Amino acid sequence: MSETDRAWIEVSRGNLIHNMKELQRLSGDRCALMPAVKANAYGHGDVLTARILQDAGTDHFCTASADEAVRLRKAGISGEILILGYTSPDVFWKLTRYGLTQTVVDSAFAREISRYCMRSGDGTKIRVHVGVDTGMHRLGIPYGRIGLIEEIWNLEGLEVTGVFSHLCVSDGASDAEEKYTREQIRRFRDVLKHLHAKGIDGFRAHIQGSYGILNYPEYSFDLARPGIALYGCLSSKNDRVKADADLRPVLSLKARIASVKKLAAGESAGYGLTYTAGADRRIAVVTAGYADGIPRSLSNCGTVLVRGRKVPVIGRICMDQLTLDVTEAPGAAAGDEVVFIGCSRRGPGVSCDAALTAEDMAQTAGTITNEILSRLGARLKRIETE
Ligand SMILES: *Cc1c(COP(=O)(O)O)cnc(C)c1O
Repeated sequence: MSETDRAWIEVSRGNLIHNMKELQRLSGDRCALMPAVKANAYGHGDVLTARILQDAGTDHFCTASADEAVRLRKAGISGEILILGYTSPDVFWKLTRYGLTQTVVDSAFAREISRYCMRSGDGTKIRVHVGVDTGMHRLGIPYGRIGLIEEIWNLEGLEVTGVFSHLCVSDGASDAEEKYTREQIRRFRDVLKHLHAKGIDGFRAHIQGSYGILNYPEYSFDLARPGIALYGCLSSKNDRVKADADLRPVLSLKARIASVKKLAAGESAGYGLTYTAGADRRIAVVTAGYADGIPRSLSNCGTVLVRGRKVPVIGRICMDQLTLDVTEAPGAAAGDEVVFIGCSRRGPGVSCDAALTAEDMAQTAGTITNEILSRLGARLKRIETE
């Protein structure tokens, strides 16, 4: 297959839908999921991922930027698409042209949207969700500035369909982190109560991302915005969550062996000659590198699978290639599949002799799974599998 000639990603439709159902179960019937498909759906391929989810009944999505949202619209995604980040007034026209929903990042921004709509003079309306800052101090109107929050409903041109906030320590297990999260939720509920008391409603409220669902499933709002958990991962291998959720990795990352050769004891390999063979070794050159999203920090310390066995990355990872020591993977040959994330078999029969997760790679690289996945390269083909 030409898609699997060099380096590619396999996206399991079954596991994605399974995770969606698990998160829906935890969120309760009256909460709709609004999957985060930003950053190319955490590397999985945004159009491919959103299509699978839409076919399975999802009709809310969130992206980071207007262009990500436009891409989904052009690909036939028809539900509400919320842009979580800032959009420049220069491209507000995209919001109306493609029927997108914009986050109100602060009150000055809301007035900017209103001015734009009024200037157009043709009754242009822009749909928004109001961001409320409950303690992260990133985007949103501070929860205490209730007057500024209320004002949004009086601005001409804005049609408010949502109010949301974001939790910043919901992944933490410490008492202090739990206390802070519950305080954020309390502040958010206060804002909602206040709005309802003023007769303002007809909007959807949401605050939980993956860890908000997994660690605080007892709270349920109108929407929830899972990202990383939907892709079957936790941010870190050592994270423990309260909910009993069966999450299955959606993505596999694979490449091929280009060439196998011998390295005699004392010989070195790669840029900088950072690896020297202590004994005679068989090494394999692989068709993926840091431009594909394999962190260069895995030079001389990463682990991958060949023929169902774990083998080490040796030498420096290059832009488009890297090198393995395949001495312990008997028979390794040009054309063999190399698995960075996913399952590998020793031969036909068993489905999985060894597996590596995105969490494993993130841990070795000293980062979180979210970064590993979202940086997977544009050059990788995304293939849908069962
Ligand atoms: C990225 C993002 C999410 C999804 O976060 P996960 O931790 O991956 O579930 C939800 N809400 C906002 C505002 C985000 O930026």
